[in-house]
Order: sequence, then C-alpha cells, then structure tokens
Amino acid sequence: MLDVDSTLSAIEGIDWLAARRSSEVGDRVKQLTERAMRGEVPLGGIYADRLDSVRPTRDEIAALGRAYVEGMEPGVERSLALLTNAGIRIVVVTAGLRDGILPLARALGIPEEAVYAVATRFTDSGEYAGFDVESPLTQNGGKVKVVRGLDLQRPILAVGDGITDLELRTVDPPAVDAFAAYARVVERPPVIRAADYVIRSFDELPAIVLGIRETATNGSPRSRIPGRE
Ligand SMILES: [Mg+2]
Repeated sequence: MLDVDSTLSAIEGIDWLAARRSSEVGDRVKQLTERAMRGEVPLGGIYADRLDSVRPTRDEIAALGRAYVEGMEPGVERSLALLTNAGIRIVVVTAGLRDGILPLARALGIPEEAVYAVATRFTDSGEYAGFDVESPLTQNGGKVKVVRGLDLQRPILAVGDGITDLELRTVDPPAVDAFAAYARVVERPPVIRAADYVIRSFDELPAIVLGIRETATNGSPRSRIPGRE
C-alpha cells in the first residue's frame, strides 16, 4: 500500500495548489498540512479548511496531475515494475485529490481501480464545487478503514511519510503487517521513530517487500517481520 504526496511524488498536492493562490494562502495551507502529517492536529479538522481556501478548478487539478508526474520520486517506476512482475499487488491509498493523482497512477501502470483517493466535484464550466465529504480518507484513521475494506492478502506493507500512514501499523489490531517510512522528501520524527523500516530511495523497496513475502511464505521461525531490531 503506497501513499502519494511526499512519497511517490515529491509534492504535497494541496500545498502545490495553494501556492498558486498567493504566498499567504500557500504558507497557511502548508503549515496545516505539516501539522496534520505530524499528528499535531486531526486531518479531519483541516481538510475542508484547506480545500475551501484553495477551491481548485478542474484545469488546476489537471495541472496538478502533471506536477505529480514531473515530481515522481527517483526509482519509483523501476521499483514498482519489479514488484508488479514479482506478483505483488499494489494499491494507492491517499487523502489526495483523485483527479490529480490518476495521471501519476497511469504513468506507473497502476489501474484506476487500485487508486483510493478523494473525489472532487466541479461545475460545468470547471469551477470547484466541493469534495466527497463522506470519504473516510479526509480523516485520521481513514486509511485504516479503506485498507481493512480491501480484503488484501497478508502480509501487507504500507509505505508513506505521514502519521495517517503510520496509523495503519499502530492501530489495534494493525491493518498492515509492516510500515516503511519514506523519508527522502520529508523527515517527520514521530513517523520515523515508530516505523519498521526507514527508506530514502525506492530502490530499497523491492528487497524489503520480497523479504517480507519470503518470511511469510517459508514460515520463518522468527516471530517478527525482519526490520529494524
Ligand atoms: Mg504523504
């Protein structure tokens, strides 16, 4: 299970959109995002606020889609192709805006059905008309709900940079079997401290995933998944 913002791609979509409004809106939204991703404020408390202050148009979301692709992290294509060829199922679960994220998924060969994100609505002329307020992904614990609902085969590894990714591992019972903090774009100490793995390159990912699968398949006598001891 992969996160998108500051993980598959170096940008935070909502911050990127906000920066196009004004430096004031950009700074405010960026601060809110950072505090939510550190777990200092609940995501649900700021999600609507951020979008309401940006109100992205359909064209802007399309531009965001291009920015996500341009900002793709090094090694992502290679790493995901290798994992897919090895029979690993890949899903993307993100609080980002679905229409902005689909171009990146397409570029990576990830089918639309494997992308779980937040839908936005537009008027006929392409003006912002709201987001899917029912989406669990706009709240803390949302990724947990989505992943639990997917009926994924265990073991599951979550890869992300934020507290909402870490929650998948720390919730009781855990929704995933291991969590890898992706720390090349942003280093968030509370997320990194609790992670099973910390990676700074996507090239590190295949060995971790295949190692986990190997352990699970061969019934290794070790009681825990290999990681940081
Ligand atoms: Mg992220």
